[in-house]
Amino acid sequence: MSLFQNISFYTTVNQLRALPRASGVEVAFAGRSNAGKSSAINTLAKRGRLAYVSKTPGRTQHINFFRVEDDNFLVDLPGYGYAKVPLAIRQHWEHLLSTYLQTREVLYGMVLIMDIRHPLTKLDLQMLEWFSLTKKPVHILLTKSDKLSRSQAACVLKEVSCFLTERYPQCTAQLFSSMLASGVEEATTILTDWFRSGSAMIQQDNIE
Ligand code: GDP
Repeated sequence: MSLFQNISFYTTVNQLRALPRASGVEVAFAGRSNAGKSSAINTLAKRGRLAYVSKTPGRTQHINFFRVEDDNFLVDLPGYGYAKVPLAIRQHWEHLLSTYLQTREVLYGMVLIMDIRHPLTKLDLQMLEWFSLTKKPVHILLTKSDKLSRSQAACVLKEVSCFLTERYPQCTAQLFSSMLASGVEEATTILTDWFRSGSAMIQQDNIE
């Protein structure tokens, strides 16, 4: 059975106190706005409009939870890098985002979406730096790989992977295209492994 076969929207959160009870494993999806995060979630889930909720006006600054199976959740974080967000709102979501990422114990890892034509922007590096404090794994999807030739895309992947090995050894990267639905199997394999490993860790904690 495919990991996302029964995925469904669960809840949307704009306050830390409204976060659902931490029970199963969570995997967060983050990235600059417009990098292709919603498209990637829809492509992985094979559902055209699943992540549409995060695009509805007033919800772009929210954390959206999708139930994958049992108590496991895919957590869609607000896209960063909007130029025109008022300071107070930006500070609110930065607090929400950073607190969630740095303190949520059931959060197993983060999928970071980057447009292959603009990888590792300043804000992406800030995100990596922040999250690396948790020592949890990060998997980068270099999206829109269809926009480059095969050899150009392979070259970007190699450069990004070399950078990660040196600076953030807990991070990995792959090519992805929502338009071609390519890279889906590779990403799904990693996420399946994360959810399994996370569940095993939670079970172990409950026994001890
Ligand atoms: P988000 O803001 O990160 O959620 O980005 P979206 O998923 O809404 O995508 C932003 C724009 O990029 C939209 O116009 C998408 O159609 C386009 N896009 C997303 N993924 C791909 C892709 O893999 N290939 C191409 N060619 N366009 C894409």
